[in-house]
Order: sequence, then C-alpha cells, then structure tokens
Amino acid sequence: MGQIAHGIGVSAGIAFGEALIMPPAVDFDANQRLGASQLDAQQQVFADACEQLAEGFGPLLAQFAPDSPQAQLLDAELMILQDDEFTGAVNQAITTLHLPAHVAVHRVTQQHADELQAMDDDYLAARGNDILSLGQRLIRQILGEQLPDLHALTTDTIIIAEDMTPAEFTALPLTHIVGLVLTQGGLTSHTAILARAAGIPALLNCDLDRQQLTNGCGLILNANAQTLHIDPSAQTVERLKASLAEFLARQTELEGIRDLPCQTRDGQAVPLLANVGCEADIDQLLGSGGEGVGLLRTELMLLNAATLPDEDTQYKVYLDCLRRLDGKPFTVRTLDIGADKALAALKLPAEANPALGNRGIRYSLSHPDLFRSQLRALLRVANHGPVKLMFPMINQPEELDAVLQELELCRQHLLERELGFGDPALGIVVETPAAALNLDSMLPLLDFVSIGTNDLTQYTMAADRTVPELTRTFPALSPPLLKLIKLCIDATHARGLRVSMCGELAGNPAATALLLGMGLDEFSLSPSGLLEVKEQILITHMTDARLLAQKALKCQRLDELHSCLATVNCAAD
Ligand code: PEP
Ligand code: MG
Repeated sequence: MGQIAHGIGVSAGIAFGEALIMPPAVDFDANQRLGASQLDAQQQVFADACEQLAEGFGPLLAQFAPDSPQAQLLDAELMILQDDEFTGAVNQAITTLHLPAHVAVHRVTQQHADELQAMDDDYLAARGNDILSLGQRLIRQILGEQLPDLHALTTDTIIIAEDMTPAEFTALPLTHIVGLVLTQGGLTSHTAILARAAGIPALLNCDLDRQQLTNGCGLILNANAQTLHIDPSAQTVERLKASLAEFLARQTELEGIRDLPCQTRDGQAVPLLANVGCEADIDQLLGSGGEGVGLLRTELMLLNAATLPDEDTQYKVYLDCLRRLDGKPFTVRTLDIGADKALAALKLPAEANPALGNRGIRYSLSHPDLFRSQLRALLRVANHGPVKLMFPMINQPEELDAVLQELELCRQHLLERELGFGDPALGIVVETPAAALNLDSMLPLLDFVSIGTNDLTQYTMAADRTVPELTRTFPALSPPLLKLIKLCIDATHARGLRVSMCGELAGNPAATALLLGMGLDEFSLSPSGLLEVKEQILITHMTDARLLAQKALKCQRLDELHSCLATVNCAAD
C-alpha cells in the first residue's frame, strides 16, 4: 500500500488511472517434443486458438475505415488464419515432428517469414513481419497469455510495460489511456518523443518492481515529479489532486501568452515552430501558438502502415499538411528510417549497431526508388506553397551532392510527366559531429540549417539515446555540445543563413535564454511545450542572453554549466 516508484518524466502532467500490465514477450522451450498420444489434442488446441483469435477481429475491424492501413493489415491476418496451406503446415509440424501447438506455430511462421524475407523484396519482407507478429499472438492465445484488448478499455488506464517501440505507441488507442510507464526507454527515444507530442504523461526507466502491481490497482503518475504512486492513500490522492489543479491553472496562465507576438523583451522576433509526426499534430500546434512546422518527421506517419504509400498518396498527405498550415512555414524532413525507427512495411536487416548503421539519408540513398517517390511528392507540393526540405544524418558534402543529384533526377522526371513542381528551400539536420565540422563545405549548397541535438548528443558522447542510464550522465546541455552548436550557428551566420534547432534541447525552457544568446534564430519543439519556451523568450533580454552564452561557453564541466544557468535563470525570474 502507498508505495512510490521513480523514473524519468518525459512529458508533463499528472494522471490518475488503473494499472494495466502488458505481459512481457512469451518465453517457451522450442525443443519440447510430445508423445504420439498427445498430438490430436494439440491439433485441436491450434484450431481453437485460430478460431478465438479470428473472432476478436470483428470488433477490431469495425473501428477502422475499410481502406485504412490497420484494416488492410487485419484483413490480411484473418486470411492467413483461415488459409488451408498455413493451418495444414502447422498441423503437419505437430504430427510429424511431435511438436506442441505453440512450438509448431513458432516453427511454421518463422520458416515462412524467413522465406519471404530472403526474397530481397521490401513488400514481401514486410509480409514476413506480419506473419511473425500474427504467430506471436497465436502463441499467446495457445498459452493463455493473450495481450489485453486496449480497444475495449472503458476506464482511465495507465499502461505498464517493459518497453514500447514507436510503432506500438502510435497504434495505442488513446481514448482511455491516460498515462504510460515503461521500465526501460530513454529520454530522447522516439517513443518518449511521441508520448510528449501526444501530451500523455509518461515515466520511462521506472524502477518499478512488477510484483508491486496488480492489474486494476489504483495509480497516480506524476510525470512532473517523476514519480508513480501505487495504491495511493486518500491523503496522497487529495494532495496530488491539488497539484493537478495547480498544474492546470499554470496551463491556463500559459494560454494567456499564446497570441502575443513571440519576441524577446528588447523586441527580437523569434519564430517558434513545432515538431510534428502527423496531420493532427498540425492542428495541435496551431492551437498552441506555434508559427509553423519546423520538423515533420515523415517516417512517423508510416510506422504502422501495411505498405509504403506511392508518390501520389504522399503528395496528397503533404499537400493536406501544407493547406492546414495556410502559408505558415512547412519544414519536411525526408524519411529518417533506421536506428530505433523500424517501419512495419520494411524489413530492415539486423545490424549489430543500428544507430551507426544504414539509417537516415544513408538508407534513402541506398533505396533510390523509395527516396525518389518521396522527393517527387515533395517537389510537387512545393508548387502550392512554401516548403522547406531537409535531410537527416548528412555527414559530408559527398552525401549532399548525391541528394542534390537525386533531386535533379526527380525534377527531370516530373518535367517529362508534365507535372508542376516548386523550388523548396533546402537544409540539413546537423546530427553528428562530422556534420558540424563539415558544415562550411556544405553551406554553399544550402538555404538553412537545423540542429538535431538528440542525435548530435548521442554521436558526440557515444551514448545510445535509448538507454536511460546514459541519458542522465550525458545530457545535451553539456560543454562539448554547446561548442558544436556554437560552431554551427557561427558558420551558418557567416554565410548569411538562419539556424533552427529541432532536437529536444529546443524544448527545454532552462536552455532558451542560453540558445538565444548563442545566436539561435528559430526553435522547433513538441507542440505541448511551445508555451513554456515562449514564456522564456518573452522574459529574455538579448544583452543578458549574450552574456549568459559567453559565460556558459567557458564552462568546462557539467556542474559549472548548471550553476551558470541556475544563476541567470534566477536573475530572469
Ligand atoms: C534529432 O536527432 O535531434 C532530431 C530532431 O531527429 P530525431 O529525434 O527524429 O532523430
Ligand atoms: Mg535525429
């Protein structure tokens, strides 16, 4: 009763709800064999599991539009469950190899997926993934360890899980999910970024012992204080209700500055843009006083898509975003696939170090058809309004040259098809020390630069951003990061161009004055954090900010830097 667990709060808020514990991945002995007398019963177990799983598809399908990616995926899975070839193969594995039903399902689905994935065809490889995922659910069904049906929730619920991929997060039906607690997960992991964008209070790397919890027990997730209260006492409930009321009052107070011009005390205008991952985020940013999109993470729109959209479909989606923005800046980043962002529709080869592997622009350049269809769609959209195009993970001028050649090819292709296209501004996301150090050689080819501090920190510190223990020891607000940021800002300004920041550091109000003082021109951050950063911009005087930056850049240690910022933040209050 009344226990407290701690974690890393990744989005503000206090949530009251019931615990729903997501079971960990199923573990079983794949070498188990059965006696001949048990095999008929296993065939029946398998047939029952297929039937029960298929029955659950009806209500699920009813929730999605018939041509939605989710409905397509469910239809395909249903076909497999009812396919004679599939059920025949599992029954044969049971009878000839003497396997228990769940081991037979594991074996057949794995074999089938391996065959598809060996064909070097992205579409078939994706179907292989679908089969594996279906196999997992069948195995759970057989072992009586089904995943809870999140669509059937009727009360406010806080999800407890070990970890969650960005794709799993985007598939969550958020109506009754009021909070998320992961026992793993890093502060700048993409799941954390998605939770923040959705405004769902979340606690990552929580030191929770699952034995402390039962499904349905009362929880209070205080992401502001980075705590999870388990079976809270009436007194704690009252106290946290009061904290929630204060938190909401603060949100209302922040609403008061939403429509003010975003400028420093001495009148320097500071564009405040938002990072978005789907069309709906655009409505949220407009409602939170955002002045446009500083980063559209296009890959987030596709995490759970059953197939990748063609050029025309992409064109329609991006055009819809542009229209919603009604002339405000629209900065689109081309697909940043890889590392912790896997797309259901693509089979990414396993890599020992995915963050150092074929990700970002490397992936796009090595899959020209995919890249070109996105470039053509974006060039066409640029014909209808202001589009800024930026490229992830460019490290050196040779990569930028290759990108520009691809763009030229796409223009030629559109000309041949007699389709109109525009001339988007071109930029890169500086995400590696190499990009910062090579910036001078790339700037002549660019119109703007955006600093991606999430990856820049990861690659400068050699600290995996998804590993929570490392996030605290290697924060983005650190002496080496400040030096690299300053290098980028000065080099870009020397060319007369503007610099934005789209990494999570841009959303940290404690860093706002410092970044302004270092010369940052624009901020782009999660829509849910816009007003807090705006508040800091409004109270900052550029003379103080420049002095602060001078002092901060001289700091050699983390503690020195923190004290330096603490003094000035107090002075600003
Ligand atoms: C970054 O790396 O800072 C960034 C904005 O890109 P992402 O978080 O999508 O990797
Ligand atoms: Mg990045």
